[in-house]
Amino acid sequence: MSKNMLKFVSLEKQMPAKREAELRREDFQEIYEEFSPDKAAEQASRCSQCGIPFCQVHCPVQNNIPDWLSLTASGRLEEAYELSQSTNTLPEICGRICPQDRLCEGSCVIEKGFDSVTIGAVEKYITDTAWENGWVKPNAPMVELDQSIAVIGAGPGGMAAADELRKKGYQVHVYDRYDRVGGLLVYGIPSFKLEKDVVERRAKLLADGGVTFHLNFELGRDATLAELRAKHDAVVIATGVYKARDISLPGSGVDGIVPALDYLTASNRKGLGDEVAAFDSGELNAKGKNVVVIGGGDTAMDCVRTAVRQGAKSVKCLYRRDRKNMPGSLRETRNAEEEGVEFVWLSAPKAFLGDGTVTGVKAIQMHLGIADSTGRQVPVELDGSEYNIPCDLAIKALGFDPEDIPTLFEEPALEVSRWGTIQVNPFTKMTNMDGVYAIGDIVRGASLVVWAIRDGQDAAVSIDVYLKNAVQQSKAS
Ligand code: FAD
Ligand code: SF4
Ligand code: SF4
Repeated sequence: MSKNMLKFVSLEKQMPAKREAELRREDFQEIYEEFSPDKAAEQASRCSQCGIPFCQVHCPVQNNIPDWLSLTASGRLEEAYELSQSTNTLPEICGRICPQDRLCEGSCVIEKGFDSVTIGAVEKYITDTAWENGWVKPNAPMVELDQSIAVIGAGPGGMAAADELRKKGYQVHVYDRYDRVGGLLVYGIPSFKLEKDVVERRAKLLADGGVTFHLNFELGRDATLAELRAKHDAVVIATGVYKARDISLPGSGVDGIVPALDYLTASNRKGLGDEVAAFDSGELNAKGKNVVVIGGGDTAMDCVRTAVRQGAKSVKCLYRRDRKNMPGSLRETRNAEEEGVEFVWLSAPKAFLGDGTVTGVKAIQMHLGIADSTGRQVPVELDGSEYNIPCDLAIKALGFDPEDIPTLFEEPALEVSRWGTIQVNPFTKMTNMDGVYAIGDIVRGASLVVWAIRDGQDAAVSIDVYLKNAVQQSKAS
C-alpha cells in the first residue's frame, strides 16, 4: 500500500468549498467549487485501502474506489481516470449527483468514528481534470459490425447502453422524444446540481463515437415497437417514468397548482434559452410568490431550491413525516435550509384554498404511528389540528409512475408488473419479447441515475451475447 494513504486518523473530511448561500440564491450555477489538486490528493489519502471495500460493494457500478483514490493521492490522475471510467459511463455526473450518503460514502468503514472518505467529489475531480486535459476520447470501434440496435430514450440509462454497445462495434441508433440528449439530467435535475454543459459534452462524445441520435422521435407516435424491432437487431427501452402521482383534494381544480416536473422542466428550458410561454406568463414561475411544495423527496428539494432562485417571496416544504424519515437526501435538505427554505414537518395537505386561483393550502398536523410491513412508521392525522398556509403557487412533488406502456407502444404482448413497470429478466434485462430489453426507471420505478447506468451497461453485455449467439446459430443452420 502507498505510504500516502490511511490519513483519516490525522486529516478531517472536507468537501470542496460551497459557495455562500446568499450568492447561491442569485443564480443556477453549481454550488460546490472544484477541489484544488492538493486538496483532492489530501482527501483521497484518507482512505484506509480496505481489503473488502464496502464503498465499492455499495456503489451500483462497483467502482474500484480504493485504487483510484490511491492513484489520486499519488498524483497519478490519468491512470485514476482510466480506472474510474472503466466501470462508470458518466463518472463526473455520478460524482455530482449520486446520493453518496446512501451509497459509497454511507458504506465507508471509516464512517464509524471518523467521517467517511470524500468519494463523490474526488470522482468528479478526476473526470473533470480528464476533460480539461483531453484524456476523454470517443469510443469509436475499430471495426463496425453489421448489426444495429435501437435504444429508445436518451437519458442516463440509454446513454450508458449506447456507449457500451458502440464500444463493442454495433451500429447504435438512439431515439428520443425530446430535442436534447440527457433525459432527466437535462430537463429534470436543476443546473445548481448539474450544469447542462456537463451533459452536453457527453452527448457530443457519443455522437463523435458514431452513435446516431434521432431526436424529436417518439415511440408510439412516430413508430411502433414492432416497427423498430423489424428495423434493428435488438431494442433497448429506456424511457423512464413521467406520470406524476397526484392527490385528489378539495380545491384541486383552481389555478396555481402545478406538477413538479412541469415546473422544473420550464425552469431548465428557460435556463437553456428556450421560449417557455408558461414561464413568461408566470404560471410556472415562482418570482414574487409565496410557494408551498408538497413532498419530501429529491424532486421536492429541487423545486424548493429552484423557487428560491427564481425570487420567490417565501418557500415552504410540506412533508407528512419528519426530517429523519424523509426520502430526500439530507445533504440537499441542509442546502435548502441554508438557502432560506422553511420545512414544515409532520404536516399533510387536506385541501387547496382559493376561488379561481390558489390562495393557500389547508394542512393538518401528523404524528408517526406504528410501523407498517415495510418497517416505516405510518403518519397519522392529529384530530382538530388543521391550519392554513397562505400561498400563491403550490407545487406537487409526490413521485412518478410509468404510463400505460403496452398501449403506448401498441404492443399488448409486452409484460408489465402490477405497478406498470416493464418486467425483465433481472440478469439479462431482456423482457418477455425476444431481443427487446428494458432498463432504468421504466423497470425499477423512479430510481437513481447510477442504477440506470448500471442497467445500461448490463443490457449491453447481454445484447452482445444474444447477437453473437444469433450469428452462430445462423452459421450453423
Ligand atoms: P430518464 O432520465 O427519464 O430518460 C428517459 C428518456 O426517454 C427521456 O429523454 C425521454 O424523453 C425519453 N422517452 C420517454 N418516452 C419516450 C418515447 N415514447 N419515445 C422516445 N423517447 C421517450 N437521481 C440521482 O441519482 N440523483 C439526483 O440528484 C436525482 N435528482 C432527480 C431530480 C428530479 C427532479 C427527478 C425527476 C429525478 C431525479 N433523479 C436523481 C432520478 C434520475 O433522474 C432518474 O433515476 C434517471 O434519470 C433515470 O434514467 P432513465 O435513463 O431510466 O430515464
Ligand atoms: Fe459513489 Fe455514485 Fe461514484 Fe459509485 S458512482 S462511487 S455510488 S458517487
Ligand atoms: Fe477507503 Fe472507505 Fe472504501 Fe475502505 S470503505 S476502501 S476506507 S473509501
